[in-house]
Amino acid sequence: MAVLVTGGGGYIGSHMVWALLDAGEQVVVIDRLSTGFRWAIAPEARFYEGDIADTVLMRQIFSENEIDSIIHFAGSIVVPESVADPLGYYENNTVKSRSLIASAVEAGIPYFVFSSTAAVYGTPEVLEPVTESVNLKPESPYGSSKLMTEIMLRDTANAHDFTYTALRYFNVAGADPKGRSGQSSALATHLIKVACATALGKRQSMSVFGTDYPTPDGTCVRDYIHVWDLVQAHLKALQRMRAGGGSLAANCGYGHGFSVLEVLDAVRKVHGSDFPVTFAERRAGDPAMIVANPALARQELGWVPQYDDLSGIIRSALDWEQHLTRKNAY
Ligand code: UDP
Repeated sequence: MAVLVTGGGGYIGSHMVWALLDAGEQVVVIDRLSTGFRWAIAPEARFYEGDIADTVLMRQIFSENEIDSIIHFAGSIVVPESVADPLGYYENNTVKSRSLIASAVEAGIPYFVFSSTAAVYGTPEVLEPVTESVNLKPESPYGSSKLMTEIMLRDTANAHDFTYTALRYFNVAGADPKGRSGQSSALATHLIKVACATALGKRQSMSVFGTDYPTPDGTCVRDYIHVWDLVQAHLKALQRMRAGGGSLAANCGYGHGFSVLEVLDAVRKVHGSDFPVTFAERRAGDPAMIVANPALARQELGWVPQYDDLSGIIRSALDWEQHLTRKNAY
């Protein structure tokens, strides 16, 4: 049986494709290449260029391949962009996911892994690692668009022969340890990507968004997780569902947080140089602090992270950023 990866040309999706191939799976990719790259998709995967909401194309994919599982990455991921364009986010993340889920049900695909996000939590009421059972109160249209998809999956699983795993990603960074993929979009806005690009002189300077948060140094605290550990959690989720495990929503983070200033210090140390940083206003939609309690993923998926080290994450992100420079990949 094959696994269909939506958004397989994107940052996390392209790592997922490599991890599936490494694990001996057959892989089919659908990506409309709006932010992903054709070259980022492993050549061993069968590729369809198109939209997950194109029901005719989805029927074709399901009829041409023996697919038992979908891993759904395709979507938009920038919190402030979602504040500026909420309807665009609901269209791309919620409406298109609804269409994909309907196509999956129609084709009788039993297993579905969904890229959810820590943004479904908003700012937790207590400043301690968040468990899956707390109230879900997203603070951005991005978080709401993902939560609505989780709700559709839950209700679909109650009504049909359909099992899902929603993995709530914390802050994903770093690159494939074998150097086959990394964060490649010049437009990416995520902290470690931007800091590495600035350290390497590819961006002239960068901003710290908000220094007056109720955190130890006034900047936001996040739980940064290596992309390779994250995709391994997806493999574990597939194995669990195929073995008869039920539906699940689980955090993917390490359980400890770093402030924006701590991340920037770590990038300076790993790169061995200083770089220009300005201090700016808070960014729309940013919660002050969010750190995962990963106990459920460890217990239910048997997930044991291998790359829980901020310096190592930054080293791999810097190496990939340099590789992109040499290859002039964007
Ligand atoms: N951030 C920042 N400067 C940047 C990019 C991000 O200060 O150029 C901050 C951002 O405000 C947030 C944290 O870094 O507090 C993590 O943001 P990111 O966009 O990486 O991920 P998010 O948590 O929004 O998914």
